[in-house]
Amino acid sequence: MQKSKYFKGKELVSPEVYKVYGEDAIKFIAKDIVIFLDLLREDLGVPILVNRPSVGITQRGLRITIDSIVKDKVKNNRLYLSAHVLGRGVDFEVPSMDMKKVYERIINNPRRYSMITRIEDPNVTLPKGYIHVDNMETGKNGIYIFKP
Ligand SMILES: [Zn+2]
Repeated sequence: MQKSKYFKGKELVSPEVYKVYGEDAIKFIAKDIVIFLDLLREDLGVPILVNRPSVGITQRGLRITIDSIVKDKVKNNRLYLSAHVLGRGVDFEVPSMDMKKVYERIINNPRRYSMITRIEDPNVTLPKGYIHVDNMETGKNGIYIFKP
């Protein structure tokens, strides 16, 4: 289990998971993702937020069967293999920085951030105020920009 210097399990999984597993829930998040978050946090020198339960944001890390995003897919008989259900992806925001600058820093430093393999199209996520990264297999080198 990868321990994080900056993030609590509570911030990286949905509340139902935390309720059952407590801080051990961080074991459901891929080691590469925890390492990436700590490295980016260190590089930026300012807080990075994933889940923010106090304002009702709870599905930016691990999503499970009883979280609304997943439940809606099941209800509509839709396939859902998001990195979020595999513990291999997170959405995050950096409140004190221009998110476009954060995005550019990541995409322009693929070697430093080699523990992630994909980043979601910034034209989709930046207007919504977050960045999605994951470590899904791409068969490509570097960080691949994908459309949702
Ligand atoms: Zn995402």
